[in-house]
Parts: sequence; C-alpha cells; structure tokens
Amino acid sequence: MTLTPLIAGNWKMNGLLRSLTELKGISDAAKEGRMEGLDLLICPPATMLSASRGILNRVASVGGQTCHAQASGAHTGEIAAEMLKDVGATYVIVGHSERRADNGEDDAAVRAKTQAAWRAGLTAIVCIGESQAQRDNGETLDVLGTQLAGSLPDGVTATNTVIAYEPVWAIGTGRTPTTDDVAEAHGFIRQTLTDRFGNDTGESVRLLYGGSVKPNNATELLSVAHVNGALIGGASLKAADFIAICEATP
Ligand code: PEP
Repeated sequence: MTLTPLIAGNWKMNGLLRSLTELKGISDAAKEGRMEGLDLLICPPATMLSASRGILNRVASVGGQTCHAQASGAHTGEIAAEMLKDVGATYVIVGHSERRADNGEDDAAVRAKTQAAWRAGLTAIVCIGESQAQRDNGETLDVLGTQLAGSLPDGVTATNTVIAYEPVWAIGTGRTPTTDDVAEAHGFIRQTLTDRFGNDTGESVRLLYGGSVKPNNATELLSVAHVNGALIGGASLKAADFIAICEATP
C-alpha cells in the first residue's frame, strides 16, 4: 500500500517567537510547490503553537510534543490534549524517549496519553525505540514488541495513530542504524500492527523513522520498506534543512 509520507519536525525545547521566520520559510517553499505529495507537520514548543498555526495555515499541520492524560484539573504546568486541539493542533507526540527518560513515562502512561489524544480528536505519534545497551544485547525487537503492546490502546486506526521508530542511541547523535536494521524494525512493527489490528489497519498506519535524519541521509532512510516518513529533531529547526529533507524524500 502506498501511504503519503509524513515529514514531521519536533522542535523540542527550542524556539522563541523570532523563530517563526523559519516557519515562514517552510510555508513559502510549500507554496512554491517544493514539497508536493507530502504531509508536513511541525511540533513547536506549546508557547508557539498558535502563532505557528497562523503561519503554516494550510501548508503544514502543527502538533504538541506531549499531553496530559486528563482533560483538565489540578495539574500545574501540564497541557491537556484538548488545549492543544483548541489552538489548532491536529497531532501530538507521545512517548518520546526524552519524556520516557526525563519524566519517567512508562508504556502505561504513554497508552493513557494516546487515549487522551484520541479523546481530543488528535492523531497520536507514538514513539518507540531501543537503547544502545538493548541493541547490543540483541533485544531490539523484544523491546519494540513490549513498547507497542503496552503503549497502544485498542482502537488504533490509520487516522488516529502514527508510530515513530526512534532508536534512542540515534537521537541527536549523528549516528543512524543501517538500512537493513531500519527495514527489520519497520517490518516487525508493521507485522505487529497487522497481527493485532488486522490487515487494513496494520498496513495503513504510517511508520516514521526518527534519529539523526539529515538532508544527506534522508533519501536512503526514507527509501526503506515500511518507512512512511520521518520524525526530525535538530534538522527541523532550520527551514533550509527541513525543506531539503522534504525535497530528498522519495
Ligand atoms: C527526535 O528527537 O525525535 C529526533 C529524531 O532528534 P534528531 O533528529 O535530532 O536526532
């Protein structure tokens, strides 16, 4: 099945309002027709969501980087999925390895956040991936299977969920898995989704690769079977890099 690639930028805790000029660059390039045939998404800091939405308008979606499991309540500093939706987000990243490591989010928490995203009408980008030690021990597929089983609620569809395979050791390091390793991981994820959710859903959920995607490796990584887009950290901060990755997408 041919799926429209999703090229998603995760700005993490980077960006002040002056960074909106980068989004203007992306918007202009899209209007020039340089990123045809792709779905584009930028997940800026929550403080920039509303303004980002205004600039990207119809050329790209905007999304949050996490959400709370509850819709409202006494949770100082947290952001509900409904609040993201309220300012124009259509996606939210859940279970990013930095949230799993820094905030102790386990699979059960990721599952609850995925349900919160769905409740608010957002598409959840559920992140999974092995650590360097787990890869060295030959545990990669076991780890991915456990994370998928624990992080995904029943009810996954191609519109409410995207999976991002992000080897923890590849994030922000400039190191990437071999294309054979990416193919093995994505093939395993596709099969796991098909086994649990059936052929139609399993084959149509988009699977993103994330971890040191750059303009010079995007074509190779995005050509691998069952790679239906990319989740990009550092290289999404500059319009020129993000645009170059989009233009390199096969
Ligand atoms: C990420 O954090 O999701 C990511 C993929 O980062 P980078 O592209 O910088 O490795």
